[in-house]
Amino acid sequence: MKSIRNDFPALSQMVNNNQLIYFDNAATSLKPKSVIEGLKDYYSSFNSNVHRAGHYLSAKSTKAYESARANVADYINAKDSTEIIFTKGTTESINFLASILAEDILKDGDEIILTRMEHHSNIIPWVALKDKLDLTIKIIEIDEKGELLIDDLDKLFTEKTKVLSMAHSSNVLGILNPIEEIVNKAKSRGVLTIIDGAQAIVHEKIDVQKIDCDFYCFSGHKMYAPMGIGVLYGKKELLNQLSPYQKGGGMIKNVTYEEVIYNTPPYRFEAGTPNVGGAIGLSKAIDYINSIGIETIKKHEQSLLNHGNYKLKVIEGIKIYGRSAIKDPIISFNISGIHHSDLAIILDKFGIATRAGFHCAQPLFDHYNVKGNLRISFSFYNTIEEIDIFVEKLNLAINMLK
Ligand code: PMP
Repeated sequence: MKSIRNDFPALSQMVNNNQLIYFDNAATSLKPKSVIEGLKDYYSSFNSNVHRAGHYLSAKSTKAYESARANVADYINAKDSTEIIFTKGTTESINFLASILAEDILKDGDEIILTRMEHHSNIIPWVALKDKLDLTIKIIEIDEKGELLIDDLDKLFTEKTKVLSMAHSSNVLGILNPIEEIVNKAKSRGVLTIIDGAQAIVHEKIDVQKIDCDFYCFSGHKMYAPMGIGVLYGKKELLNQLSPYQKGGGMIKNVTYEEVIYNTPPYRFEAGTPNVGGAIGLSKAIDYINSIGIETIKKHEQSLLNHGNYKLKVIEGIKIYGRSAIKDPIISFNISGIHHSDLAIILDKFGIATRAGFHCAQPLFDHYNVKGNLRISFSFYNTIEEIDIFVEKLNLAINMLK
């Protein structure tokens, strides 16, 4: 653990005269030295545009960018690296899909299915389409534990259902949804499936062939990679049929003022200068995860989750949201009579980074009829001792605010 924590320079700092305890990993992860060095190396020695020039630096940069793509493909077990499109992150990946599906596939009157626990980035692009197309959005609701009411799904599908887009795991509840079962149901009705893996990608072994979804989206920055890089995975046969999202340099075979012939995927979908440094950083992050092993990471994170639940559940007046047995390491809660933001402010004074609010999932909070909650989210570099300190300071804060 000591050597793992040493890999993350940000962890060793003091915040407000206390040793930093970083429990806001669901928002973004800290970065290991190998990722920071990878970026530094790229920008200090072979920064250059890809796929365009024939000179030494460009060839090196192109090679690194394309091997990053192959590394991502291997990591999520895509059939082929051409199924990996680099984007800015999950938000851009979903916006990409909403706008292209609206152009190529969706028709007036079509229906799409989301869930109660979606992040705004998997709600707003679809709601925005309602004005353009007469779309109906249907919702898979949750039960009192926060688990999806999957049995209701059969009733939600109609002949007009075209897309099912949902989180693999919730950024508020931590609940890991049974996506293989859901994708299977959607597939049997010919419905396209989009999985938002923004949270799951850093805690779970992702195998897109096993899940068998049509599209899987995630962000690098939540999995120890830099900000501004993310992935849209899509099945090759589908990508081949889709129009480009943005238009510009690097995505064509031939251009005249009369006609454009677009390149094949993934290049067709990566107009303009890409985030080469980000892709290299993402590849370094994957190497880092592989060097520890996602199963080892998961085991430790689950012990943190269990310990956190065990210590928190005895606090008077606590309500924990998401009480499923199958969860990623996120605990969000409210303490009766105390505002979540007040707790977060006091905890910050003790050097503890938490997150208070809606966590960009307002419809979920509408369901619970509350104005937000306090969320702690763990990474494998967190420790049981940090949780004990957190609970001690939380109790202090509660006593101050009572
Ligand atoms: N979906 C989920 C489930 C998330 O947790 C987040 C980030 N909080 C996003 C989508 C959006 O990710 P990004 O901001 O990296 O695009």
